[in-house]
Amino acid sequence: MHNKPKIIVFSGIDGSGKSTQLKLIYNELITNYRVFISKIEYMPLNDMNKNLIKNLLIEFKSGIEILKQATEIHTKNNKFDYILCDRYLMCYLAYAYLYGIEPIELIRKLLFFIKNPDLTLYFDIDVNLALTRIKERNSEINKHENYESLVQAKKGYEKLYNSFGNLEIINANQSIGEINSNVKDTLIRRKLITHF
Ligand code: ADP
Repeated sequence: MHNKPKIIVFSGIDGSGKSTQLKLIYNELITNYRVFISKIEYMPLNDMNKNLIKNLLIEFKSGIEILKQATEIHTKNNKFDYILCDRYLMCYLAYAYLYGIEPIELIRKLLFFIKNPDLTLYFDIDVNLALTRIKERNSEINKHENYESLVQAKKGYEKLYNSFGNLEIINANQSIGEINSNVKDTLIRRKLITHF
């Protein structure tokens, strides 16, 4: 395979299982393909504030992260077959909505030079279940990982359902194996791979 890398994004609220599913797909692809993982580390929701000006600055900072990620992806052209992103454009736009920065359609237009990924998987999960998984997870609980913030984050994502291209919504309330099998079927149906 020598074409441009196929860009597949794993998105959803915290605890929806993005990283878990990304790792499973990575482990399957890496035996036959060149795969790069791109991850955004900066969590804007940790800094979220009631002050719109401060939020605009935070949003600007996370905008820079997206631009850095887009540049990184661009430099991987021809060197990789797949780029798997743990969060990308959709997450950024969903957070913009949370900050009260609207309309998100306008922000999307301002970022016209970032092309839509080949596929964005949105892991749709019940907020209470996500919270349970976060509590069981073996790491520190972030400031924004509470019921209210996750509900808001989910609303931000849902706002994008109809306007975001190449999007597939995956029911993330199921077992790890069931979700993985849905993800694999989706990649085949979307012709991003012929078989696993
Ligand atoms: P995210 O990357 O979306 O924050 P993770 O993949 O880190 O979510 O998952 C959060 C926690 O939930 C982890 O401890 C993970 O092992 C667990 N987990 C992920 N998916 C499932 C699932 N389908 N069922 C039960 N537990 C899960």
